[in-house]
Amino acid sequence: MLDAIPTEPRRLESHVAGRWQAGTGEGQVVADAATGDPVARIDATGIDMGEMLRHGREVGGPALREMTTHQRAMMMKRIGLALMERKEELYAISTATGATRSDGWIDIEGGIGTMLSYASKGRRELPNAHVIPDGAPEILSRDGSFIGQHILMPLEGVAIHINAFNFPVWGMLEKLAPTWLAGMPAIVKPASQTAYLTEACVRLILETGELPEGALQLICGRTGDLLDRVACQDVVTFTGSAATARKLRNTPAIIENAVRFTAEADSLNACILGADATPDSPEFDLFVREVHREMTAKAGQKCTAIRRAILPRALVEPAIEALRARIEKTTIGHPGDAATRMGALASTDQVEEVRNAVEAIGAEARVAIAPGPVPEKGAFVSPCVLVCDEPLTAKAPHEIEAFGPVCTLMPYDTLEDAIAIANRGAGSLVASVFTDDTEVAKTLGRGIAKLHGRVLFGNRASAKTSTGHGSPLPQMVHGGPGRAGGGEELGGMRAVKHFMQRTALQGTPDQLTAIIGQWMPGASRRETDIHPFRKSLAELEIGDTIVTEARKVTLDDIEHFANFTGDTFYAHMDEDAAARNPFFEGRVAHGYLIVSFAAGLFVQPDEGPVLANYGVDSLRFMTPVNAGDSLRVQLTAKQINPRETDDYGEVRWDCTVLRDDAEVVAQYDVLTLVAKEPRDL
Ligand code: NDP
Repeated sequence: MLDAIPTEPRRLESHVAGRWQAGTGEGQVVADAATGDPVARIDATGIDMGEMLRHGREVGGPALREMTTHQRAMMMKRIGLALMERKEELYAISTATGATRSDGWIDIEGGIGTMLSYASKGRRELPNAHVIPDGAPEILSRDGSFIGQHILMPLEGVAIHINAFNFPVWGMLEKLAPTWLAGMPAIVKPASQTAYLTEACVRLILETGELPEGALQLICGRTGDLLDRVACQDVVTFTGSAATARKLRNTPAIIENAVRFTAEADSLNACILGADATPDSPEFDLFVREVHREMTAKAGQKCTAIRRAILPRALVEPAIEALRARIEKTTIGHPGDAATRMGALASTDQVEEVRNAVEAIGAEARVAIAPGPVPEKGAFVSPCVLVCDEPLTAKAPHEIEAFGPVCTLMPYDTLEDAIAIANRGAGSLVASVFTDDTEVAKTLGRGIAKLHGRVLFGNRASAKTSTGHGSPLPQMVHGGPGRAGGGEELGGMRAVKHFMQRTALQGTPDQLTAIIGQWMPGASRRETDIHPFRKSLAELEIGDTIVTEARKVTLDDIEHFANFTGDTFYAHMDEDAAARNPFFEGRVAHGYLIVSFAAGLFVQPDEGPVLANYGVDSLRFMTPVNAGDSLRVQLTAKQINPRETDDYGEVRWDCTVLRDDAEVVAQYDVLTLVAKEPRDL
């Protein structure tokens, strides 16, 4: 009888210039983390990296830049929703990486959620445009004829994202989201160990048909000469070990062409328990729960996991007992089993690395909870807790990262010591502090912020609502100084700017208005016969202006407004008291009276394309208005933002209220919603 012929694992393919392509070499077999069975073969031999870069630069980039910011955000939303519908296909593959269902949730739904979050933030926080003004205009000459404005434009290269093995989906999507929103195409290179899950996700993304050609390419295997070919408009981001980060950062083409390179490397994150905690306080319990969760989620293979738990010396023994109780209840096993609470490491190589790291840390720390038995087959490791009794002088526990379910307890005697111990991580992604004393929070927060990308404070009040130590959020910075790589990912729109060039434009207001597509202070205003409120978005143009009639402010107006609204502040009511105020010579009109009169002056009351007023921005009262002054308003269309999914858009108006001597008394932006087309009334 013939022996069963072992089935050859599937060859992963790269996505190159619009086609799927397998490498021509032998490649490397990737094994299931839990069973050790082969899952895939990975190889990128023969793939033309130059072609990939050209395709991204010449096809993907122009197509993405043709779209506006909101069109790209909508594309990302549709992709995110489509992935969510097919998420079970990804979960089914995810167990082979050693991930339990809840580990997979962080990776898969966490990644999709990040994409959706950027899709929504992009539409709320960026104008629907090709050029994004950054900050306010700067008036660079006395007469306003020469001004400055910073703008952001997408880089015209390719963003190369080299990712770690621990989050094959999240790691890709959290970088693609800001990249695409900025308008850059990407080449993703996942870690070989778990690339089969990234490859599956890329297939799902491409199957949506939402992405323009060239916006996403994938390398399954080694990157060959890719990094030797990068040019000044490309960006390289890296997540993985500090050693590889250092090596890649020094690639000659990256240095010579000043290519933006951001690294997110391993860090020895800390969790600190405040000196106010006692073994029966909720904060002690929260601290123990968080340390245990960070050891066991993804089997401790998270860049944000707690490696050093810093606590008052008297609480070390109670903490060991509380952790032991939790660890004993943590079932380790196949990630697909419902009873399993902790799955496997990503590979047996990692098991070896974790064992070596524990041994090295053990030279300056004692083992308090030794690893228990684990399933024989697969990359399993049981949690291990060490105690470093002299954390102010020891080295290894602050320097060696055991990338698995391992944590070292570090006792402290004073808060200053706790700060010094945390900061010995020499730069970390995140630290958490559990305390119910705001003074302790203040001392620790101010003491450790400079060496941490994110600091989370927890106590009984936020126990149910806190997002937890280990979760990077799209709104908040992910990245850290020093040892953590010095990079900064996520953190809202700042992450998008990493893929854009910030340029200072200096010129006349008309020149800058033409370039940016937004009316700049001092630029020409166009008064037309038709009131701008009678124009739909299709008819309205930047610079369209109405200059109103004048209206005189009387003492009766001021008194009427005061009594009507209840705002009887002395400066509006009492001539002598107002004059004693350093800013006024006598009674003055209410600022809100000026704004209300302005609305009455510039309004066009008939039913028409203007649908609603939804607020004002940057309101400033520049100089007091007294009874007898006459006011008029200049209202100019400043920015037009059509909404992609509605039949209306936003118009931002520059509103300047002037006194009869031409002095500006109030300045603000008026925000309205306006129909895209003339309304059939
Ligand atoms: P590596 O730094 O070796 O790999 C990270 C990524 O870089 C992978 O995609 C890898 O690809 C790629 N890579 C490695 N060498 C090169 C190269 N010369 N040119 C281009 N790409 C390259 O990290 P590991 O994945 O092996 O993990 C090692 C350690 O890193 C862990 O034990 C842990 O300490 C730390 N780590 C930190 C993470 C974080 O988020 N900060 C996440 C994961 C790990 P390939 O897989 O094909 O080699």
